[in-house]
Amino acid sequence: MRVPKIAVVGSTNMDMVVNAERIPVPGETILASNFFMNPGGKGANQAVAVARMGGDALFVSKVGNDVFGRQSSQLFNEEGIDTRFMLSDEVLPSGVALITVDQKGENSIVVSQGANNSLLPADFTSEVLNELEQCNMLLMQFEIPMETILFIAKYAASRNIKVVVNPAPVQDIPAELLQYVHIITPNETEAGLLTGTKVRSLASAQQAAKMIMEKGVPIVIITLGAQGALVCENGRMSVVPAAPVTAIDTTAAGDVFNGALVVALSNGMPIPEATKFACRAAALSVTKEGAQSSIPYYNEVIAGFI
Ligand code: ADP
Repeated sequence: MRVPKIAVVGSTNMDMVVNAERIPVPGETILASNFFMNPGGKGANQAVAVARMGGDALFVSKVGNDVFGRQSSQLFNEEGIDTRFMLSDEVLPSGVALITVDQKGENSIVVSQGANNSLLPADFTSEVLNELEQCNMLLMQFEIPMETILFIAKYAASRNIKVVVNPAPVQDIPAELLQYVHIITPNETEAGLLTGTKVRSLASAQQAAKMIMEKGVPIVIITLGAQGALVCENGRMSVVPAAPVTAIDTTAAGDVFNGALVVALSNGMPIPEATKFACRAAALSVTKEGAQSSIPYYNEVIAGFI
């Protein structure tokens, strides 16, 4: 049986990380003890998570015509991701995140979105749209222009492709977008912004989920960090507890959750079971450092799936 294809439309960044004794003050130059580069960006992280969970991922993204863009495309290709529509901007550089981590593990981050900001509706030629139509699910996040997210969500919904939106990083959502969305997966902060409430407890998460459903989204899954996730489907709510692990680094936990969720769903798993699988995968990722380096493989998730 052919594995259903999953489209991920989103950002690609190159994270450049220096470890230093402390974060420099303005005007100061200090020496780093270490430097490394990590491919990142929420879109890319989620596409890699889809691929490692055994999904057939189509990744649509925009990078610069530079070494970072080429390196990311090559790496994602090696992950088995369909990178034919990782587009290249002739003018803007690839998105980068400049990260300084001090001895206490505190960080300071500057992100330059670069080519991610130029992924526009006009980039979705008939060739890209035809490929999109081969997919049964579409996963998007908020690190590319909102006009592109709206355009693609509307297109996908009109073709019966299930639209899953991870509304991160936190920002205002146009009401129109919600009518095209099948599943939305905010964390507590994002759920708070979506509803104008503070989500700090299970009761407030339940209230927020109800409010988001009333805005027209059939399935709401609020991720609750170490508490797991709240699933709200057609008015029924249940909590999927997090898998108990010792957390080392929660970077990209949400990205792993979303990638694993869409693979499980596109393989026909019901929502609560798919959420349990996603929680498992995300829990494994928090036991390792880094973003893409911490994304587990399907076999590892299944091995711990009791
Ligand atoms: P984000 O990373 O987007 O802020 P969350 O912090 O809610 O999202 O984490 C996403 C998912 O990762 C959670 O639903 C949970 O399944 C898993 N997770 C996060 N932190 C932990 C933890 N400390 N222990 C186990 N699982 C975790």
